[in-house]
Amino acid sequence: MKLKSLLPILIAIAALFALPLFIHNPYYIHLVETILIYTILLYGLDIVVGYVGQVSLGHAALFGIGSYTAGVLYFHFGWTIWGTIPASIVVTSIFGGILALPALKVIGPYLAMVTLAFGTIAQILINEMTWMTEGPLGIKIPKPELMGVPMTKAEYFWMVSAILILSLIVVDRFVKSQIGRAFEALRDSPIACDCMGVSVYRFKVIAFVISAAFAGLAGCLYAYSEQYISPNTYNNELAVLFLLGIIMGGRKSRLGAVIGAAIIVLLPKLLDDIHLFRIVASIIAIVVVVGAGMALSKKVTTPRRVAIPIAGVVGLAAFSFWLNSISDWRLSIFGFMILLVVYYLQNGIVGFAKSFYQSIFGKVKTTRGGDAEVVDDSISFISAVGNQNAGSELLKVDSILMQFGGLKALNNVDLSIKRGTIHGLIGPNGSGKSTMMNVLTGIYTPTAGNVLYAGESVVGKTSSDIALSGIARTFQNVQLFGEMTAIQNILVGLHHTFKSNMLEIALHLPRYKKEEADAYARAMALLKFVGLDDLANEEARNLPYGKQRLLEIARALALDPELLLLDEPAAGLTAPDIKELLRIIRKIRDNGITFILIEHHMDVVMSVCDTVSVLDFGQKIAEGKPAEVQADEKVIHAYLGT
Ligand code: ADP
Ligand code: MG
Repeated sequence: MKLKSLLPILIAIAALFALPLFIHNPYYIHLVETILIYTILLYGLDIVVGYVGQVSLGHAALFGIGSYTAGVLYFHFGWTIWGTIPASIVVTSIFGGILALPALKVIGPYLAMVTLAFGTIAQILINEMTWMTEGPLGIKIPKPELMGVPMTKAEYFWMVSAILILSLIVVDRFVKSQIGRAFEALRDSPIACDCMGVSVYRFKVIAFVISAAFAGLAGCLYAYSEQYISPNTYNNELAVLFLLGIIMGGRKSRLGAVIGAAIIVLLPKLLDDIHLFRIVASIIAIVVVVGAGMALSKKVTTPRRVAIPIAGVVGLAAFSFWLNSISDWRLSIFGFMILLVVYYLQNGIVGFAKSFYQSIFGKVKTTRGGDAEVVDDSISFISAVGNQNAGSELLKVDSILMQFGGLKALNNVDLSIKRGTIHGLIGPNGSGKSTMMNVLTGIYTPTAGNVLYAGESVVGKTSSDIALSGIARTFQNVQLFGEMTAIQNILVGLHHTFKSNMLEIALHLPRYKKEEADAYARAMALLKFVGLDDLANEEARNLPYGKQRLLEIARALALDPELLLLDEPAAGLTAPDIKELLRIIRKIRDNGITFILIEHHMDVVMSVCDTVSVLDFGQKIAEGKPAEVQADEKVIHAYLGT
């Protein structure tokens, strides 16, 4: 990082550490300390909510488990903080793993319900297991000792600050590494994630465990900060508050977590303090008004862009005047304002600030990679494969039956794919082409029959294992990782090139840095190959449709596949785009990669395929050279009807 961008961070850190020297009121120090501790928890929660995209209402319970691990170990065994911190992290991580189990089965609102139940059960257990937790009486914990002397308020504050900064660095490094990319990939498209060799199952568990580790750490620090823990603290209201912190602050943002933590700590205090309330209510009102103005200004002409903020400020003045006169209503007004913020600022306060900044100063570059040294248009980055065995059988599909209830989507289909060829798979809509692709990539397990890839059966293997064994694919309905940039999409495909573990990521050890640099260079080369290098830092969902299809192919190539399955790659493409696509397909084929190509455009099929198989109602009705198949009576009949 450059010194210039580091400066504000250093100033913030210096201010944080100087705080106890200037503020002598222990109440305020304690308030800030609580914000810091909540921030650590929100860093963890953000991994599950922001990166993996799941709602967890179980984090108050995890926070409580962290506190109680420290409390119980101190109370019964006299452990010091140096033992309880690691213990809290480990114990809570285990519970995080348990919480991950339902997350593997259900998502969205159902997961929210299950995690809520987890929270309730945990709270009841803490309450009931009096022999261990002292139940509703709670546990008193003294301030931790440093070399035999109890820490002062300020010393403990510094310790929490230091741990927060460490947490920030570790979380930031995690989410920017291959692990963080795996989290985001499984949020945006679990199917594509698995088919890129990144196991959704595995990374969901990892996400919950890491997330819980931070909750446990925060819980432990909280116990010493409060010096007293009791089950009531860790209720479902707190869980909702944590979630609100992430949403209001802004997900996927370290600063957002700080802002979110500040809001949820100060919120209850605000409701008691009319002066503070007015200040914060006005700030939120400003945010809402400016936000609404911005949303409007996108639709209106330039002169009005100036008029709208002015109108907003005037309205705001009127609002604050009004606010003074009806202070009794503040609770409901506050609730209403939060509702507005959550509803209109879906990316939270930080997300809003970013887009505001961008609308004024133009787009800021957020990701690296755009300036990487780029290779030429050669495809040396794809390992040359099958050339030596060209013509031998790579994939054998042996009387596959795929039944959905009474429907036989595939009915005893055989296929034989030769190395180094482009094998076309055609047929009318609903004839079972995509189903075949899903069977080959492990998304469906066939009802009967077998698939042999390079002599080994793939039936029963997981999608990610199949992908890693050398079968890559694209999807009929494009399955990109929408919120990630083009280059990040490719980097997910390159996940298999990373060997470094979490410790190496956290410490930025040489092996990890080398892997990351290599992967960036290779991802850039792949983008260049499909002509997308200019759009490396564009979010995938913002790319034009044709480019999205090309990006999907590049991402599949990142897997270093031997067999590439393309499901209607030319669908929705313009004529020049199709030409480009054909050029790319031929180039990849020349490098020894084998294709199965599902396509509706007959000219595409005729010009590149070596062999074509035709499906109709789940059965193979013809096979042979493109010209032969095109002339076949049954094929014409299937396509044109009687
Ligand atoms: P296409 O050749 O157009 O790609 P598909 O393979 O998508 O055809 O679909 C073949 C048939 O299988 C269709 O009738 C479709 O409705 C059915 N089908 C595909 N997937 C499923 C599923 N998951 N559940 C039920 N029916 C399915
Ligand atoms: Mg299809």
